[in-house]
Amino acid sequence: MCGVDAIQFLTGCTFGKGNLIHKDYGKMVFSFYDRWKGTGFRMLLCPNVSGDLGSELRGLMKKAEEGTASEEERTRIQFLREKLQDRYMNSDLEEMFIVTETASPAPKPARILQSLRCEACGEMAMESRTRRFGGKTLCLPCFEKVEQKA
Ligand SMILES: [Zn+2]
Repeated sequence: MCGVDAIQFLTGCTFGKGNLIHKDYGKMVFSFYDRWKGTGFRMLLCPNVSGDLGSELRGLMKKAEEGTASEEERTRIQFLREKLQDRYMNSDLEEMFIVTETASPAPKPARILQSLRCEACGEMAMESRTRRFGGKTLCLPCFEKVEQKA
């Protein structure tokens, strides 16, 4: 059910290669770019695709998480999951996604960032993920610790 897993599998793009970028906007939107041509498109998952099945499933999953789902409801969750998978696998692309042009230009190729040694724990961290505090270079967890004390 995870769109990002599907994209990694289907396109071969991964976080590790730096050609998959996750932005935590909480949306089911996927933008694809051709870096050489500078073109791209944006796909928004139609909320109607999961529709009534999706809302029923979400309700039941919440109960299951809280530990209040009955045996029947658990069976129903399984059934709804399979139904939804069926729907996703058999829907036309145009039914599932609203495709538009990308709202922003293609992201720049991943830069090779320098790693710096945290002066508190001694571990290496990407420069962009470090902070300066009291004249020291700190990784984020160490920075958060001293900042809370300050
Ligand atoms: Zn540290």
